[in-house]
Amino acid sequence: MKQVLVTGGAGFIGSHLTEALLARGDAVTVVDDQSTGTFDNLAAVRDHPRLKCIEGDIGDPKLAARLAADAEHVYHLAAAVGVALVARQPKETIERNIHPTELLLDALVERCRSGDSVKFFLASTSEVYGKNPKATFHEEDDLIFGSTTRARWSYGASKAIDEFLALACHRQYGLPVVIGRFFNVVGPRQSGAYGMVLPRFVDAALAGRPLTVHDDGRQTRCFAHVRDVIVAVTQLMEAPDAEGRVFNIGSDQPVSIVELAQRVIAATGSAASVEYQSYADAYDADFEDIRRRVPDLTRLQQTIPHRNHYDLDAIIRAVIDAKTKQP
Ligand code: UDP
Repeated sequence: MKQVLVTGGAGFIGSHLTEALLARGDAVTVVDDQSTGTFDNLAAVRDHPRLKCIEGDIGDPKLAARLAADAEHVYHLAAAVGVALVARQPKETIERNIHPTELLLDALVERCRSGDSVKFFLASTSEVYGKNPKATFHEEDDLIFGSTTRARWSYGASKAIDEFLALACHRQYGLPVVIGRFFNVVGPRQSGAYGMVLPRFVDAALAGRPLTVHDDGRQTRCFAHVRDVIVAVTQLMEAPDAEGRVFNIGSDQPVSIVELAQRVIAATGSAASVEYQSYADAYDADFEDIRRRVPDLTRLQQTIPHRNHYDLDAIIRAVIDAKTKQP
């Protein structure tokens, strides 16, 4: 039985990870300040004898040190969430992305140097590629950010600092770290409140409201089901070859946002229409979007025996079912 710490474990991805870790027999401590997550996401496992939930800020040095002292594996998912929130609160985004990572890594490096067996997973993001114009993003590609006057890039840049820090701890002190760059993870429990497109489209279609597509809707994304992503994350943490490395995690099947809207309308059988909105109206006048975002999954597939089980239609179905099922 492993002692595992999941920061941000009450969030959308963190709650699915927590369920999977409990199911395989780990003892899991979740720390979450419920800023964007909620312990309601853990309702299915709330009374599990191997689950401990702590409401608190992992940016609190005492709490971070205490929780890092007991864990063998740390999955660090607590972070600022969503492009819309980043546009509104860039200062908090930068601080919340960097400071807790530093605290956890400091504590784990100390333990590693004194001979303890510890391992760290950093949840990073495809945003670190910035506006790289390549058709597919490979882990060794350059990071291409826009100007510091455009707040969006603070998200990717601050997660890139986290990656640099984790890799430095690996190189300098031998701390086993694994970095996963998530590409548009979706699924049950994801909230539309922070700008994420799929839950927003499903909510609108179910309510018969127009689905709001930004710009011309021809920007593309690859959507991955959270369960597929969690399988990849947990396998990477067990793979010795993954240590000290960065991995793209997600789907490599692109879809345009307007096609996504049409597929959600078809799957719900809704009479809702599609309406268009400029980026300036949706976010702010400085907003820059990423037109195309597709991961190169070669490294992931060479390291673990991973294959996604959910295609886009199955993902849309799963999100609709979760929103329409009776409590
Ligand atoms: N988007 C949209 N309507 C919405 C929310 C998002 O058209 O209600 C667009 C958004 O501008 C972006 C894409 O959908 O081009 C994906 O947005 P999301 O915030 O889900 O993810 P990210 O931008 O981080 O890829």
